[in-house]
Amino acid sequence: MNITTTGIIGAGQMGGGIAHVCALAGYDVLLHDISTETLQSALATINGNMARQVKKGRISEEDRDQALKRITTADTLADFGRCDIVLEAVTEDEAVKRDLYAQLCPHLPPATLIASNTSSLSITRLAAATDRPGKFMGAHFMNPVPLMELVELIRGIATEDATYEIVEGFVKTLGKRPVKVEDFPAFIVNRVLMPMINEAIYALYEGVGTVEAIDTAMRLGAHHPMGPLELADFIGLDTCLSVMQTLYEGLADSKYRPCPLLVKYVEAGWLGRKTGRGFYDYRGETPVPSR
Ligand code: NAD
Repeated sequence: MNITTTGIIGAGQMGGGIAHVCALAGYDVLLHDISTETLQSALATINGNMARQVKKGRISEEDRDQALKRITTADTLADFGRCDIVLEAVTEDEAVKRDLYAQLCPHLPPATLIASNTSSLSITRLAAATDRPGKFMGAHFMNPVPLMELVELIRGIATEDATYEIVEGFVKTLGKRPVKVEDFPAFIVNRVLMPMINEAIYALYEGVGTVEAIDTAMRLGAHHPMGPLELADFIGLDTCLSVMQTLYEGLADSKYRPCPLLVKYVEAGWLGRKTGRGFYDYRGETPVPSR
């Protein structure tokens, strides 16, 4: 199977980034989001990020112009009938993803592959919500997609060998390094990373240190490029909570209990950078701890 057209559903932080790398690698890209505002802002972000790459000499102006021309937005899922692969990057909520697959599948030819960018959900269970479990798998890109090299590739129980091989080859053409991961909650990166972030939130909750103290400690003491609270804001606190819930429920172990403070922030709509406020407040010139 030859992939020429990629469909990307969900044009948030991840979908926009995936569209960016697919277009630069020479694929036609069809991008859709339920929010037209998000779709437009994704195009503006891609534009800005590619302009930065041109400025740094990583890509030529010609590469940028060609890549931007390859990206088209789609108003409806019916347009996805011409895609060879659909990369799903909608909100990390199983009901939302299942509902999307139910609406999407009737528009797809039988050979079209679907890869979910889920951070934590069972690929086998998501696959079972489609009409093509053999042609479904996980392709978990990292944030920010244009910069991060890794993609975790996850097979569901029904994923066909050919599906895995095509997606593995495709991901390599994007300049990424695939790593094979078994279908366990949160895979590898988030299984290790999220409990660390959750523990940092517990440290804040219990008053072990302030937001600044915790982030400074981990930046200078563990040589992490970003503190864990800063990183949580960057990922999105709703996504962090959802991953912790999946670990907690999927592995039935209390050590994965989401910190109540994380739950509170999500309840408040303080989801991090994407909403302007999380552990830090991003509405001013420089981020300051929000409380
Ligand atoms: P986001 O909130 O930035 O974007 C999600 C987008 O999906 C939103 O724009 C929303 O409008 C859209 N959406 C929701 N329901 C939809 C539907 N039915 N049809 C079309 N669009 C719909 O979230 P994100 O950070 O981009 O995460 C997307 C996926 O990628 C999640 O599964 C998440 O777990 C995963 N992921 C996130 C990160 C990260 O660091 N944020 C990293 C790797 C993977």
